[in-house]
This record gives sequence, C-alpha cells and structure tokens, in this order.
Amino acid sequence: MNRRLAVYPGTFDPIHLGHLDIITRGLKAFDRILVGVGINIDKKPLLSLEDRVSVIQEVVRQEIPEHERVEVKPFRGLAVRFVREAGSSVMLRGLRTTSDMEYEFTMSLANMTLDPDIETVFLMAKDTYSHLSSSLLRQIASFGGEMGKFLPKGAVELVRKRYTVQPD
Ligand code: ADP
Repeated sequence: MNRRLAVYPGTFDPIHLGHLDIITRGLKAFDRILVGVGINIDKKPLLSLEDRVSVIQEVVRQEIPEHERVEVKPFRGLAVRFVREAGSSVMLRGLRTTSDMEYEFTMSLANMTLDPDIETVFLMAKDTYSHLSSSLLRQIASFGGEMGKFLPKGAVELVRKRYTVQPD
C-alpha cells in the first residue's frame, strides 16, 4: 500500500478555509492527497455530491500551487473501503476543538476495527480556522451573510447561488 498517498474523506458541504488548510498542510507530510467527497447519513447535504466535487476541484486548482498532487473523487459507503480501494493506508482528518474529539476518536476506533491496515492521521485545525464548520457556513449563507472570510474564493459564488434566503 502507498503510504505517500493520504485520503482525506469528508462531506465538505461546503468546503471552507479550514478544510483547505488541512489539504495544504497535508501536502507537507504526504506526496499526494485524494479528497474523498462522501455521504454522511446523519447529515442532509444542501449541495449535491456533484456540486461538492466540482467546487473542491475548482478551489484546489485556484488555491494550491501544486494542485497536480491533489485529486478529488466522490465515494459512497465506508471511508475505510474507499481508502483501501485507492491503494492507500492513511486516512487524513482534521481536529478542531475538544468538540471534535469524541466523534473523531469514536470514528477512528471504529475504522481501526473495520480495517486494521488503515491508520487515521489527524492534523490540528489552525487557530484562525478552528471555529469554522460547514454547518455554521450553511446558516450564514442561508440568511445571505457575507461568506468571503470563511470560504475559498472559488466557492463563494456557487454557495451563494445554492443557498438563497428561504421565504418565511
Ligand atoms: P464529516 O461529515 O466527515 O465530519 P466534514 O466535511 O465536516 O466531514 O469535515 C471533514 C474533515 O475536516 C473532518 O475531519 C473535520 O474534523 C475536518 N474539519 C472540519 N472543519 C475543520 C476546520 N475548521 N479546521 C480543520 N479541520 C476541519
């Protein structure tokens, strides 16, 4: 298995600066990163899978100088299976404040049981982005709030188009 390739799975609904930072910093540790855009059954996505993949591809192309080292693909089903099928043994995840700890800890233990060959590697969120979450951004966007401080430039327009203010 290729240890130089890390798979970064997530829902990315939408991708924000915290996610982008994990990809950028992940490239210091790994030769290549495959961003896996998945379905989380506990979350009802507002952006379609196709939209999420294409916006991440665009953002990576615009914001990451060595973007040829990053690939973006959708996946369905278990993240560990996606990692294995990609030929990697590393799942990359970001860790925000203590609130992420319990969930990420549980997930990594479950994944370890499902496939002991796959290791989860965590990068701590950068302090400037540690408050960012896709759900917070969906709230701001749905009320027409300014998103330029939270989203990569290439994502702002699409997110604005998709999240229009709902009439009361
Ligand atoms: P999931 O639905 O799999 O939790 P998300 O799209 O919410 O997917 O997040 C994908 C990964 O990115 C997770 O590991 C999450 O902890 C991490 N992440 C989310 N927000 C941030 C942030 N602001 N800074 C660093 N990592 C983050």
